[in-house]
Amino acid sequence: MSSALLWFRQDLRLHDHPALAAAVARGAVIPVYVLDDETPEEWRIGGAQRWWLHHSLSALARSLAVLSSRLILRRGRAADVLLGLMAETGADSIHAHRAYEPWWQRTDAEIAGEVTLHLHDGNHLANPRHLLNGAGARYRLFTPWFNRLLEQMPPPRPLPAPDHIPTPDTWPASDELADWALLPTCPDWSQGFGTWTPGEAGARAAFRAFLPKIADYAEVRDFPALPGTARLSPHIHFGEISPTTLWHHAAKQAGAHARTFLSEVAWREHGLNLVDQMPDYANSNGRAVFDSFPWRSGAEADADFTAWTRGQTGYPVVDAGMRELWQTGWMHNRVRMITASFLVKHLLIDWRRGERWFWDCLLDADLGANAMNWQYVAGSGVDAPVFSRMMAPLVQSPKFEMADYIRAFVPELAHLRDDEIHAPHETGVSPPGYPLPIIGHVEARARALAAWEAARTGHHDALADGGIALSGFDLIRM
Ligand SMILES: Cc1cc2nc3c(=O)[nH]c(=O)nc-3n(C[C@H](O)[C@H](O)[C@H](O)COP(=O)(O)OP(=O)(O)OC[C@H]3O[C@@H](n4cnc5c(N)ncnc54)[C@H](O)[C@@H]3O)c2cc1C
Repeated sequence: MSSALLWFRQDLRLHDHPALAAAVARGAVIPVYVLDDETPEEWRIGGAQRWWLHHSLSALARSLAVLSSRLILRRGRAADVLLGLMAETGADSIHAHRAYEPWWQRTDAEIAGEVTLHLHDGNHLANPRHLLNGAGARYRLFTPWFNRLLEQMPPPRPLPAPDHIPTPDTWPASDELADWALLPTCPDWSQGFGTWTPGEAGARAAFRAFLPKIADYAEVRDFPALPGTARLSPHIHFGEISPTTLWHHAAKQAGAHARTFLSEVAWREHGLNLVDQMPDYANSNGRAVFDSFPWRSGAEADADFTAWTRGQTGYPVVDAGMRELWQTGWMHNRVRMITASFLVKHLLIDWRRGERWFWDCLLDADLGANAMNWQYVAGSGVDAPVFSRMMAPLVQSPKFEMADYIRAFVPELAHLRDDEIHAPHETGVSPPGYPLPIIGHVEARARALAAWEAARTGHHDALADGGIALSGFDLIRM
């Protein structure tokens, strides 16, 4: 009996897996995961996500074993590995879910030129190529895109996990997961990741725990000290739970009150929608005016970048966020916005440096979501507010009651009162071991405006002259 390869990518689950269901319906199935560090080039899986991948693959292999199946692990250029495996096993086709990252699209085209590749919709609420406006064109702005998506909802009902997976007559050899050395050892910096449970069961448990809170999500989601968001992003990125499952259970639990949460789930898909239309969106400005932006570079900028990555900027909320990222592999969304804005606008460092740091440190690093959000915050994105709108960390911090959040990640400040902790140096407190602000807020505003004017007008001399009027600079208090 001939078999088919089931190619797992960012869909490490058995429930609601249309590609797996289709492969099972046709006969024997060889499940395979390929660790490809070549095709994605600079976007190969980052350090933190390797930890997640190890545990998620391990969980998937256990679930397949319960069904008397196996997970075949291979490493190398995915197209070469899969074509080799087809020849080796005599399989007649490959089933996989559609993916929109540019390297997967290149790989799919290469494979489809040689063998039968069945691509299924299964990792998204809708195929972004089917969401078109009245003129038949794709959307780049979120709101009209989301409204169009809503017209196509609800998505298909989630499929059950298969109760049986037909096996091939002989199994091909598999790598040992441990040999991939995905886990950090010297040193083991993953100890703070212990609160996560990678894998499908962990994803489903996290979602079940969040569901009763979903109606309050819109109100509490901006307060990092509260457990108000789902903390599902790494699970969703690795496809341990499908967006379709999220949609149906959220709508059943909360009806119209689930809308804010589901719109955030849709934001992730909008990121892929942008990357699908602009494959270089993670590297190139969405707005050409940013191509001549005078980003800082050199030793001083490098030192500032290092201080930002280590949570040593002297801005408590920024430092708490960057340390949360390093310790736990995750950062609350509001704090991601504040830390990203600080790098780009206060420190005038190119958003791409921050994007790459996040890529390596985030457990949920996702090409579309990361690029879209960095470009949004920087102002360079196709749907971003103007650069001159700047987040004020010292306003955001008390507004969203971040005192306890800061205490959790910046122990040097834990003893301070709520009215001191957001800006210790402004209240005359100098906690030992905690740095002075890397730059004053007013100075940073003036420098950012001058840089923006230089980019906008093409008058780069004005930067050196300091001859830019500050009027019109708009300090956003979100
Ligand atoms: C600079 C910056 C970089 C980011 N990089 C990433 C990234 O690489 N990967 C990533 O998944 N998210 C990214 N985000 C979006 C967001 O911060 C995270 O998705 C969110 O914090 C995850 O936590 P949660 O699961 O509790 O989200 P919830 O608020 O509970 O939302 C549910 C799900 O919706 C999706 N989602 C929520 N907010 C956004 C958003 N703004 N954009 C896209 N999807 C969203 C996520 O899949 C999330 O799990 C970034 C945001 C910023 C400002």
